[in-house]
Amino acid sequence: MRLVLVGPPGSGKGTQAELLTKNLNLHYIGTGNILRDAINRKTEYGLRAKPFLDVGELAPDDLVNSLVADLYRDNAGLDRFVLDGYPRTRAQAVWFDDLLKTLKRPIDAVIQLSVNDEEVVRRISGRRVCPRCGTVYHVTDRAPKVAGICDHDGEKLIQRPDDNESVIRARLKVFHSNTDSLLDYYRDKGLLCEQPSYGSVDSIYQSILGLIQAKKH
Ligand SMILES: [Zn+2]
Repeated sequence: MRLVLVGPPGSGKGTQAELLTKNLNLHYIGTGNILRDAINRKTEYGLRAKPFLDVGELAPDDLVNSLVADLYRDNAGLDRFVLDGYPRTRAQAVWFDDLLKTLKRPIDAVIQLSVNDEEVVRRISGRRVCPRCGTVYHVTDRAPKVAGICDHDGEKLIQRPDDNESVIRARLKVFHSNTDSLLDYYRDKGLLCEQPSYGSVDSIYQSILGLIQAKKH
């Protein structure tokens, strides 16, 4: 099984990727991990990618593609996987298809976790974090017993700087400008499965399994 997960911030993509990885016995390939690993190992591409990450920008397509090529070259057994955060653009998807073609390991399905922008803003801007123990709350969805106070240690909760509305809207803008043509590309290839990301983690996960099964036939 070879899967690609696509979804905006706050769509629960990371959680679903984790479940799929564990339950279907897949390799998890997150672009964030790949980049950090290459930077830590000070590889040529890692050193080139570092300045982009340091200022919170996305690394250019050719650089990310090179990192992915390295990953597949160094891991000959990478046959079953779920990708989270890659391909991010149509250009990356076209390039990645060529790579997988030479490896004879085509993608089985692309799962799009869809959430509308207002809901993304609501989910992320409502997050509160305990600076002491790291517990993540939400002002309405996962509220602490006393507003603004951590249940575990009584610490005052904070909002992470990236969780404010203007930052989220800027990220969504970048996400849509990259992703709309990416999704068209996979839709044209008959690989796209749309899964609305509302409801419980488990119900979304079960729906994804159903979509994957349907794709196999
Ligand atoms: Zn705490």
